[in-house]
Amino acid sequence: MKIIMLGAPGAGKGTQAKMISEKYDLPHVSTGDIFRANIKNGTELGKKAKAFMDAGQLVPDELTVDLLLDRISKEDCKNGYILDGFPRTIPQAECLEKALNARGEAIDFAIDVEVPDENIVKRMGGRRACVSCGATYHVVNVPPKKEGICDKCGSDLILRDDDKPETVQKRLEVYHAQTKPLIDFYGAKGVLKEFDGTQEMSKVFADIVQVLGA
Ligand code: ADP
Ligand code: ADP
Ligand code: ZN
Repeated sequence: MKIIMLGAPGAGKGTQAKMISEKYDLPHVSTGDIFRANIKNGTELGKKAKAFMDAGQLVPDELTVDLLLDRISKEDCKNGYILDGFPRTIPQAECLEKALNARGEAIDFAIDVEVPDENIVKRMGGRRACVSCGATYHVVNVPPKKEGICDKCGSDLILRDDDKPETVQKRLEVYHAQTKPLIDFYGAKGVLKEFDGTQEMSKVFADIVQVLGA
């Protein structure tokens, strides 16, 4: 099963992708996580990507598409995957489609998690991310057992630089201009499934499972 997660920054794509990944035993492929790992390791790619990410902009397609196509060509992706944060532009979606077509493959589901912008800004201020394993929490909705510490690996939790309110606003603008058109793109292909992301996360997940099948 090949799944794409769509939705605004902070809509809950990562949260749902992790749950889907566990239940259906599919790798969770997040371009944001890949970029953050590169930044942490001080790679050339990380240096280039950081400037765009900190400004709330998208990393250029030239730096993103090959990276993603390379990732999904790995052995662990041969039975499918969940793409979280890719594609984010129509050209990215077209490159992905071309690469899949060449192998006689296609995306099965594009899962759109819908949350209005007003809710997003509130949510993002409370998001905390683990510096080591990428697990995400929320100070009110998903608090860790011990404040500031990751339940899974014991590392520190931080507020991402790009989750500050000014940058979130910019990312929402970028989302509406560049990423939202993907909803129609996948709608036209008949694989779009829309979900109300303002519900509790377990309810959103239950709705998704209804569509993917138990
Ligand atoms: P969010 O959790 O808000 O959806 P991500 O972790 O997916 O954010 O992405 C963080 C940042 O990484 C984005 O704001 C963007 O700068 C960059 N990024 C991630 N994926 C892509 C992509 N497919 N194309 C361009 N930039 C990307
Ligand atoms: P995305 O990957 O779309 O950027 P995340 O999955 O990281 O979004 O979620 C953004 C923030 O909102 C996190 O702090 C997360 O714990 C929280 N969150 C996720 N889903 C819900 C939900 N259904 N209700 C309330 N908070 C949520
Ligand atoms: Zn951790």
